[in-house]
Amino acid sequence: MNAQHTGSTGSTAAHRVVILGAGYAGMAAAVQLAARTKGRQDVQVTLVNGSDRFTERLRLHMTATGQEVAELSIPELLDGTGAQLVRGWVTAVDAEARTVRIDDDRELPYDTLVYGLGSVADTTRVPGADDHAYGLSGAQDAELLADRLGQLRGGTVVVVGTGLTGVESAAEIAEQRPDLDVVLVGRTEPGATMNAKAGTYLRGALDRLRVTVRSGADVVKVQPDAVELAGGERIAADVVLWTGGARVSPLAAAAGLEVDDRGRVVTDAALRSVSHPDVWAIGDAAAIRQGYGVMHGTCQGGMPTGVHAALSIDRLLRGKEPRPFRFGYYHTPVSLGRADAVVQFTHPDDSPRRISLTGRTAMRYKETVTASPWPTYGRMKKVPASGAFWPTGGRFTRKAAR
Ligand SMILES: Cc1cc2nc3c(=O)[nH]c(=O)nc-3n(C[C@H](O)[C@H](O)[C@H](O)COP(=O)(O)OP(=O)(O)OC[C@H]3O[C@@H](n4cnc5c(N)ncnc54)[C@H](O)[C@@H]3O)c2cc1C
Repeated sequence: MNAQHTGSTGSTAAHRVVILGAGYAGMAAAVQLAARTKGRQDVQVTLVNGSDRFTERLRLHMTATGQEVAELSIPELLDGTGAQLVRGWVTAVDAEARTVRIDDDRELPYDTLVYGLGSVADTTRVPGADDHAYGLSGAQDAELLADRLGQLRGGTVVVVGTGLTGVESAAEIAEQRPDLDVVLVGRTEPGATMNAKAGTYLRGALDRLRVTVRSGADVVKVQPDAVELAGGERIAADVVLWTGGARVSPLAAAAGLEVDDRGRVVTDAALRSVSHPDVWAIGDAAAIRQGYGVMHGTCQGGMPTGVHAALSIDRLLRGKEPRPFRFGYYHTPVSLGRADAVVQFTHPDDSPRRISLTGRTAMRYKETVTASPWPTYGRMKKVPASGAFWPTGGRFTRKAAR
């Protein structure tokens, strides 16, 4: 990879790295790369995001229940790094011409692209979900839900999806709004991926918060005032929150990048697109194979993917080969309202270990984890290596990824 390329006038121009999406992964990539290339005139780092505010997705259930969360300014964080934020909505990527279209009317050329557009709640799975259910994909969604919950004086909130986002949301709503009946509906039992002790604790906490759990239930339709289950039963709802599954932007597939059956960019071991080597994919938008399988979307794995892509691009710019990415999961922290939580420690393949934390200790652990990304980016500005380590998964990831 040449650090410089020849412009149309014959002059040499900087190598343009464009990073799409300022989520947990994209921010990590932008700050890490900007810090590593600081002062180099031959490298230009540009981050593109729909908003100039960083969304702490891990706190969206708090926003949705009207709790104040910090305003985190991306331009302020990037200040002094040399990286620029372009605020706008990416509407197309032309992987052959190597350009990105923003808000339909602007075009941004790149030499290297880092694709980190994340994921959103998949409200396309059943009829009516897109029209009648709220999601928790971004700050705007959470604010809309907060407005709606604020209008309710009693009533029923149905949370669809018994995964961790559904559990955290149901617990938060039940705790903040004891006047509402909260029903958590999904196929699996809440906490099913945890060990027996942690799972039992989690279900006990939902019970204490008076959340009604309907597991083994398949929601097949969302109506304006109810959800319908397979078999025809209706559960009346004043508000439906959809957390059942995630989907990614169709932009990568439309650009001709090789994607998996869920639309995620398929990467090689170094996190480069297998079809377009000048494109790197990170976070929820990437299908990253490890020895134990394809990674699933988390913040704990997303940030390392961003840092690794930055390190690899920096290596290439210095004439070195990128290294393979290795990551092993280590925990699943789940909040159960503001005063309780459960933390399941995991093996690198995300299967549960025997150790878990519960109660206030778990809550403090969870809060520390939730609060840590932003200060981590701040530290990386000055000391890039401070954000460049994570559990690599030992024997679980030693098997070649691809
Ligand atoms: C409510 C909730 C709770 C969660 N809790 C946890 C948790 O406790 N622990 C954990 O590890 N994970 C958790 N997750 C998952 C975690 O948030 C995601 O895995 C993580 O956000 C992925 O990071 P990312 O950078 O890939 O994408 P995102 O964080 O989704 O960031 C993508 C960014 O790209 C922007 N974007 C998208 N499309 C465009 C476009 N076309 N143009 C411009 N900008 C665009 C988005 O606005 C966003 O800023 C949770 C998710 C949710 C929704």
